[in-house]
Amino acid sequence: MFEQFKEIPHQHLDDLGEIQLSVKRLDLVHPTVSGNKFFKLKYNLLEARKLGYTQLLSFGGAYSNHIYALAQAAHAFGFESIGIIRGEELQHQALNPILEQTSQLGMQFQFVNRQEYRRKNKPEFLAELQQRYPNTYIIPEGGTNDLAIKGTAEILTDFDRANFDVICCAVGTGGTIAGLINASTPQQKIIGFSALKGDFLNDEVCKWTTQNNWQIYPDETFGGYAKYNARLLNFVEDVSEKYQLPLEPIYTGKAFYQLWQLIQQNHFTASTRILFIHTGGLHHQA
Ligand SMILES: *Cc1c(COP(=O)(O)O)cnc(C)c1O
Repeated sequence: MFEQFKEIPHQHLDDLGEIQLSVKRLDLVHPTVSGNKFFKLKYNLLEARKLGYTQLLSFGGAYSNHIYALAQAAHAFGFESIGIIRGEELQHQALNPILEQTSQLGMQFQFVNRQEYRRKNKPEFLAELQQRYPNTYIIPEGGTNDLAIKGTAEILTDFDRANFDVICCAVGTGGTIAGLINASTPQQKIIGFSALKGDFLNDEVCKWTTQNNWQIYPDETFGGYAKYNARLLNFVEDVSEKYQLPLEPIYTGKAFYQLWQLIQQNHFTASTRILFIHTGGLHHQA
């Protein structure tokens, strides 16, 4: 399980003048468990197996990449899976395409109302779930815990530490960037572009790292999580055509757009070597 996969390709983007920009294609890390979720789940699944659990359980909204990845990983590595999904009303509706695919992978859903969903991190609620599903290993919403961060630290290799000045990625809960920060050298700068508005993520990331060579830009352009406009969609399409670099508008497209803006504004000095971590998230298009 999660044995050493083949080297993840770096894609170099030309014609950016003095700036050197490469993309680390985590979207190609595994045929079904793609992107940063592979790294976030790796040590959690190994732990679940070690402890003898046969099921994985986690929490998410109806379009959660994390829930989808969990279902893929459970399917690929021989676990059952349970998704606690926000939105009681969904129970009586046809499943959206992602939940439909997730269900076909064998995930069992429990739809809960918003009030109950808010208890997702409460010890009493977790104890209730554990009692109800005794063979279940519980993973938090978004998948970020200490084992996830141990996994995301493995995204950076010695090559990445030696050959890049700036490492960038999309940020949701902060688990991925926390691992990158922990794996970076003090000379490197880690820049996160949040899929959400607001700056609460700084506090989140501080829980997981003691280094301070990092910065997170909130989404001040598109209005927050899962919000985008025609400009972003056009950008995503242009990049995908021009560079054969597939992006989506929720995470990677928004992050790459923000990076692109910084490059255009000459934020980086000439000859800066930038590595953009492609965190995946492309199953919607699949
Ligand atoms: C889940 C996800 C993220 C966010 O990762 P965090 O560890 O929660 O910050 C970023 N990009 C993609 C494509 C994702 O699916």
